[in-house]
Amino acid sequence: MTTRVRFAPSPTGNLHIGGARTALYNYVFAKATQGRYILRIEDTDRERSTKEFEESQIDDMKWLGLAHDEGPGVGGEYGPYHQFERVEIYQKFAQQLLDEGKAFYDFCSDEELAEMARKNKEEGTPPYTGKWREESHWEEAKSKIAAGEVAPIRFKVPPGDVSFTDHVRGDVKFPEGMVGDFVIMRTNGVGTYNFCNVIDDHQHKITHVIRGEDHVNNTLRQVLLYQAFGFSMPEFAHVSLLIGKDRQKLSKRHGATSVKQYREEGYLPEALANYLCLLGWSHPEERDVFTINEMAEVFDLKRFSKAHAIYDIDKLKYINSQHIKMMDEQSLFDRAGAYIAKDSFYHQQSKEWQQKFLNLYQEKIQLFPELNEYVAQLTSTELIMDDTLKEIFSWESTPQIKDYVTQELAEVSSEYLSEEILGEWMDYCKKELKIKGKPLFMGFRGVLTGQNHGPDLKPLIALTPVEVLKKRMASL
Ligand code: GLU
Repeated sequence: MTTRVRFAPSPTGNLHIGGARTALYNYVFAKATQGRYILRIEDTDRERSTKEFEESQIDDMKWLGLAHDEGPGVGGEYGPYHQFERVEIYQKFAQQLLDEGKAFYDFCSDEELAEMARKNKEEGTPPYTGKWREESHWEEAKSKIAAGEVAPIRFKVPPGDVSFTDHVRGDVKFPEGMVGDFVIMRTNGVGTYNFCNVIDDHQHKITHVIRGEDHVNNTLRQVLLYQAFGFSMPEFAHVSLLIGKDRQKLSKRHGATSVKQYREEGYLPEALANYLCLLGWSHPEERDVFTINEMAEVFDLKRFSKAHAIYDIDKLKYINSQHIKMMDEQSLFDRAGAYIAKDSFYHQQSKEWQQKFLNLYQEKIQLFPELNEYVAQLTSTELIMDDTLKEIFSWESTPQIKDYVTQELAEVSSEYLSEEILGEWMDYCKKELKIKGKPLFMGFRGVLTGQNHGPDLKPLIALTPVEVLKKRMASL
């Protein structure tokens, strides 16, 4: 049997990282089992759903590398894939439950319902105990509907415990009475989430439902509906919740929560996907850094963790830096430029300069946009006499280096200094001026860059315009 999984977002906001993680697990599971990954848009909430959010979510998913095999824009034999286009299907199935005596029209008023809920809570009985669940009132209900009255349809929860087996949580049992007769069709004729979800998963031939732990209580209702319809049930895997380092539910307080924000901040899609995968799932070889394809080679539902997954931006940055480090020269060149400001000095340089610059900083950065700061440093002529520089200038050798370099620089007419020339200058200071070790290296770095740390000095200076070096010297 071909595995068929789905991601079913509601287009009521940007793609959340928790949603992206769910999409990723489904996508990777489909790839790992040569199955199909379906995208279904749960857009029955007409007030909050928009086309813009739908498009932006799909765009973010594609950016992450999670293109769907069936669904909006792609089609497929089990469509439609938008719930709003499926309204009549839900109505048909609701009618079936009504005909079979498994659902009923509920004419209780809001006040009656509130009073019922309060009383039943006190007595520990299910929230709904209205009269309309009794067959003796169904003829009356029918005539009210025939006369044009409207009412929601409730599912008549049968007696008994409910249980299902979950790939992450094991056997999940709900004792009888945990759920009262719940609404499956609203007064406006639109199905509720639990109802539509079951019908869609059945009609879309979904074999595995992988989604967040927050849906476990919904699964209780859904299992009841599967049983009422006699549909075969998909396998379930409810993955752990994402929480912040403070163990609170993930929210804006913990940093960006939408994929779009990470995209804008310059995170790499493969790094974000890699990191999201690690939140609640572990690689069989305990590897931290891998691609989606590598993930698909070893992915299975056994390696999910039951514990909440702690979202840690520092770890995400680390994973991002590892993906930058893994890039070959060509990919580094092809990809980094887009993260550097259009009007940057970087873009005015030769391809050779750009490649050398990227090679120099590849190991240093966690995110590509950090390169902007490094370009700015390279071209900055502002020397700040901070404590570091003051210390370097407190050594007697430093002014000697400065005088020598100033004099040599005056002779240079090329745009850039070569690494060899700088090497010769350092050799001269070592042999002729007898400056060695730290005073030599730090002296040159301090004098030429105004800093006490940075990447390899020779390639760094070879990337700095001679004009800039001259101005720095003059301002010392
Ligand atoms: N639309 C639901 C959500 O966004 C789908 C949940 C499910 O996967 O069943 O949470």
